[in-house]
Formats: sequence, C-alpha cells, structure tokens
Amino acid sequence: MTILVTGGLGFIGSHTVVELIKNNYEVVIADNLANSKLEVLERLYQITGVRPIFYQIDVTDEALVEEIFRKHKFAGLIHFAGLKAVGESVEKPLDYYYNNIVSTMVLSKMCLRYQVDKFVFSSSATVYGEQPSPLREDMELKPRTNPYGETKAISERILIDTARANENFAVSLLRYFNPIGAHESGLIGEDPNGIPNNLMPFVTKVAKGLLVKLSVFGHDYDTVDGTGVRDYIHVVDLARGHVRAIEGLDTGVSIYNLGTGKGTSVLELVNAFIRVNGVDVPYEFVGRRSGDVATCFADVSKVERELGWKAELTIEDMVRDAWGFEQGGE
Ligand code: NAD
Ligand code: UDP
Repeated sequence: MTILVTGGLGFIGSHTVVELIKNNYEVVIADNLANSKLEVLERLYQITGVRPIFYQIDVTDEALVEEIFRKHKFAGLIHFAGLKAVGESVEKPLDYYYNNIVSTMVLSKMCLRYQVDKFVFSSSATVYGEQPSPLREDMELKPRTNPYGETKAISERILIDTARANENFAVSLLRYFNPIGAHESGLIGEDPNGIPNNLMPFVTKVAKGLLVKLSVFGHDYDTVDGTGVRDYIHVVDLARGHVRAIEGLDTGVSIYNLGTGKGTSVLELVNAFIRVNGVDVPYEFVGRRSGDVATCFADVSKVERELGWKAELTIEDMVRDAWGFEQGGE
C-alpha cells in the first residue's frame, strides 16, 4: 500500500515516514523544501534502509500534483505540507492562506479524481482558540487571532464538506498539541531556519551555546509556577498516531486530539532538560508573549477509545531526544 506524504521531509512528516515504512507501507514524499533539507531523505534511508520516492514539488501546483497521482496508485495521503509560523502568518497572511488552503483543495480534488479515499490532515490545537482545557474534539471552534490558525480551521471545513458530499472520501483531522523531541538516532528532528519561535528548539540552541539565554514569556500566569502550561508530545508518538489514523480510517470524518493529556510548564520542561541532559540552560523571565494562553492540554480519551492509540513516551524521553538531535546535527 502506497501513501503520499506531503511535507514528508519536515519535522513531523519525516518521523511519520519512518513509522509508515516500519509498518510496511510504501511512501511517496512531495515536499518543496520551503522549510526542510534534501539531506533528510538520506537520513530516512539511514534509519529505515529504504529510499522513499521523492518529488520536489509545490503541492499548490495542480498540474504537478496531478502528474504524481497519475503515476502512483495511492491508498491514502497524509497532508503535512504547510507554513506554520504564527508570527509570520500575521505579517504575510496571503502567503499562509494561499499555501495552506490551496494545497488542501488541490490534494482533495486529486483524491476525488483518482479515487484516493483516505485523507489525513495535520490540524492543530490552535483551532480551539481560548477555551478552558482539557480541550475536547466536540468543542465549538473559536475564532483564531492569527491567519495560521484560520488556515487550519478553514482546511478542516473544506475537508468536512468534501467528505459529506462524497461518501467514499474519508477524512481524519488530527489536532496536534505540542510536538517536540526527535528520533532516538539523532538523525532527524526539528531544525527550524533562523531563530526558533518554539520553546524546545530554542532551549536546545541555548544549551549548545548558539543562543545566549532563553526568555521565559510570562511568569504570572495562574499555573503551577506562573509559566505557561502546554501538552508536549514526543514526535515519534505523534508519528505513530498517524499510522493508527490511516489504518482506522473507514468512512466519513474523524477528528482526534493527538496529545498526552498532561500539562507541563515552561520551567518544568526546562528543568527536566537540565536534569536529564546534565547541561545548563540560562534563562530570564520576560513579559508575556502576545496571543499566548496560560494553559493548553488535550482530552485524549476519544483517540484512545476509538483508535487504541495513546502517547507512551515521557517528558524525559522528549528532552533527551531533542538534545540528541541538536548534538547530532553538528
Ligand atoms: P515543517 O515546516 O517541519 O514541515 C512542513 C514541510 O512542508 C516542510 O518540509 C516544507 O518544506 C513543506 N512544505 C510547505 N509548504 C509546501 C508546499 N506548498 N508544497 C510542498 N511542500 C511544502 O513543519 P512540521 O512541524 O513538521 O508541521 C507539519 C504540519 O503539522 C504543518 O501543517 C503544521 O502546520 C502542522 N502542525 C505543526 C505543529 C508543530 O508544533 N510543529 C503543531 C500543530 C500542527
Ligand atoms: N515560550 C517561552 N519562550 C520561548 C518560546 C516559548 O517561554 O522562547 C513559552 C510560550 O510562552 C508557551 C510555551 O513556551 O507558554 C510553548 O510555546 P511554543 O511556542 O513552543 O508553543 P505554543 O505557544 O504554540 O503552544
């Protein structure tokens, strides 16, 4: 069975490719390298012993996408390709709306045209907006404060309506919480261009001495120690969730939170990193980052009940593997 993985050289996509290959799927990757490097393909070969077929294309380009659908018979696709920097999406809204929404439309259209009836989509906890945690899949989606979040909500809507109108088209909307960590080999991981926006890659760069210190955004939240609380999930657990989602997809629309169900504060994560890896991470408290919520974590009972999937790796595994990748990445 062949699965098309868009954005398969990126952070979550590359880990999912590893898990798909481990589960005997053939993988075709489409990625335009907007936020990844060709070298990842070689790393995937080193980890799995298999070279996935790779197309360097932009998945908003309908003609190029159609060529791939003509060449291969896909059992399903996982659509990771997208732009994901919240701050940048405020500055370049059109780039985000175009890339993230047109790609979803082009791929759905090709699925219908070529009878590919399983579509797994990378959504995000951001679609819940500012609602109290634990966040449940049946909660109403609130307006987002940034274009990135809107692109996820709109893509979800497009896929839901398309599935409603086409009974053979089955859709799985996976709402990720905070994926961190890396493959245990240290060969693939999160490698953002420039200064990282997210906490974990920032911490690993400070630990390595590439950045001077971490700014902790806010320490006056109503949380365990005043710093923001998130539901961090090991990227390998998340990748395994995709394999379960593809396998479990039958008809209609399924929506699942992929998280651990547990909240961890910024200071708890930083202290775990220091303790497990035996390295120092200098930090200072600064003001809150605009748009941040105090606490965000998932209710994960639905995915466990329906797909039998549950995150297994711990915060210690996450910080160890994130550091392993940062060191391997020299
Ligand atoms: P990433 O940037 O590492 O991977 C995305 C990949 O898609 C990159 O390799 C990039 O080159 C490629 N890409 C982007 N636009 C493309 C296009 N038009 N055509 C072809 N390739 C294109 O990001 P990631 O962290 O692996 O995220 C994967 C998906 O999961 C994204 O859709 C993201 O919005 C979503 N998501 C990520 C997080 C997170 O915290 N990392 C959280 C929630 C949702
Ligand atoms: N954070 C921080 N310093 C940073 C980056 C993030 O203190 O340099 C905090 C942020 O305020 C939030 C948590 O770390 O409480 C996770 O932030 P991230 O950007 O990784 O994820 P998101 O905000 O999207 O959940």
